[in-house]
Amino acid sequence: MNSKDLAGKVALITGGSRGIGRAIALRLARHGANVAINYVSRDEDALNAQKAVQEEGVQCVLVKGDVSDPPSVSTIVARTREALGPIDFLVANAGISIIETHQEISWETWKKTMSVNLDSMFLSIMAVKDEMLARQYGRIVCLSSVAALRPRQRQIHYAASKGAIVSMVRCCAEAFAPHVRVNCIAPGLIETEMGALLGPQALQGIIENTPLGRLGQPEEIGNVAYFLLSDQSSFMTGQTLAVSGGRIMLP
Ligand code: NDP
Repeated sequence: MNSKDLAGKVALITGGSRGIGRAIALRLARHGANVAINYVSRDEDALNAQKAVQEEGVQCVLVKGDVSDPPSVSTIVARTREALGPIDFLVANAGISIIETHQEISWETWKKTMSVNLDSMFLSIMAVKDEMLARQYGRIVCLSSVAALRPRQRQIHYAASKGAIVSMVRCCAEAFAPHVRVNCIAPGLIETEMGALLGPQALQGIIENTPLGRLGQPEEIGNVAYFLLSDQSSFMTGQTLAVSGGRIMLP
């Protein structure tokens, strides 16, 4: 395999400044892709991620903005194109997780979660797909979660948003075929700030119910994102891959 097999390609990664998105940015950069990193608030993390990507010898721009806001998404996509050229890869990764029981959950929490986790992915896909279809080339990867497919008592809103992504990916994959491929990753618990929100007791319970007996690392999602964006997965579209240490198999 050519280690620079993505040389000259342009990737936009939403929520690419830390956690899973950052690991995906680095993995794509290592394969030669130029990268636009989107984030919403933490400038220092974004600058650190940009520096790490640039150290791989590729171009990297920061495109700050809220991916749940339609005008911001237009701006993010336009700035990426201006700086790097047409977008070949979209990684719709930005998301939030608010832990609330059914007694605590509010309408505002539901709306916020749907907006950042689901509306954002719809908006970013719609913003890039016409150009991809016109160029007859494009790869899209969305980040869902094992929570889409398994009950989560304290994450009714989060799980619902992640379930809808699986359906959206399938529909887009059929609609955009044959030149644009759309796939999805459903991670299990990954060691990031978001993963830690569940609290130590819940984390331990999850580890005990994970056949591989540990949390996942962001780089392990980066590996699968690279696979789905590269020609290694050339006969795959509309699929959701669980990357969960086997957790997906258990109740
Ligand atoms: P983190 O909380 O570590 O990072 C979130 C990233 O998203 C940050 O870059 C953040 O930017 C950005 N972001 C948040 N809200 C917005 C917004 N409105 N607009 C633009 N960017 C935004 O998350 P993870 O890396 O853990 O998760 C990444 C994805 O993977 C999410 O979709 C998540 O649901 C999914 N996932 C994660 C799992 C886990 O265990 N970690 C498990 C299953 C799925 P900033 O720093 O500026 O706030």
